[in-house]
Amino acid sequence: PSVLEIKDLHVDVAQTDENAEPIHILKGVNLTVRSGETHAIMGPNGSGKSTLSYAVAGHPKYQVTSGSITLDGEDVLEMSVDERARAGLFLAMQYPVEVPGVSMSNFLRTAATAVRGEAPKLRHWVKEVKGAMTDLDIDPAFGERSVNEGFSGGEKKRHEILQLGLLHPKIAILDETDSGLDVDALRVVSEGVNRYKETDHGGILLITHYTRILRYIHPEFVHVFVDGRIVESGGPELADELEEKGYVRFQQAAAQGA
Ligand code: ADP
Ligand code: MG
Ligand code: MG
Repeated sequence: PSVLEIKDLHVDVAQTDENAEPIHILKGVNLTVRSGETHAIMGPNGSGKSTLSYAVAGHPKYQVTSGSITLDGEDVLEMSVDERARAGLFLAMQYPVEVPGVSMSNFLRTAATAVRGEAPKLRHWVKEVKGAMTDLDIDPAFGERSVNEGFSGGEKKRHEILQLGLLHPKIAILDETDSGLDVDALRVVSEGVNRYKETDHGGILLITHYTRILRYIHPEFVHVFVDGRIVESGGPELADELEEKGYVRFQQAAAQGA
């Protein structure tokens, strides 16, 4: 079993204007995700949820000013983006947004080769990809298309979960996997996430603004995220409260504490 440990994480974001001071976004995040556990991070827009996933992914614009991130005791902050993937972290946005001229099937095989340390045998690979695509209701023609070129929001999300099913990471961080999905796509994508949990027994950090995906994916742990930190943690009942009452109570408490 694996464990991702985030301790007192502070992160600044570099502004587009190089002369401007970086903005302090994450203000002390503490979180531990173990194999087989699903954690939901829920918070209002602009609270810093994506900043957390970018920081774990190693995006250069996001500077960790203090705190630590470890995977099974190894210092993630010392790792390059590729090393993080090889260590078993899955972060959808560590992959390029659009890669014209590179087909999906080639791209996936390259990603699998990077993570596994050797190229998957072609015959097995073709079968693997076919099976994973069928599971996600993805048209086989999808494999011949250029990476993310002209993909709809829903197709990008399916592609994300296709990678999840093929790369078998230890811990997966899924940021707004539910955004832009209609009900059918949401169900298929959620089933993919649940399959990953059941077959790979991976740890999942599900980052979302809305509660609707939690009808399909059932986290054991729910964390409310406001103004760059986790302000409350609990079980599924916390998500029920958010669905009913929104973030107001937590935002007020955070504003009074600040
Ligand atoms: P969330 O994912 O919860 O909506 P984000 O992490 O995307 O929140 O953003 C948190 C805050 O950081 C927001 O106020 C946003 O405007 C700011 N921010 C994020 N990335 C950048 C950036 N690259 N440049 C400037 N500000 C940023
Ligand atoms: Mg946002
Ligand atoms: Mg976000």
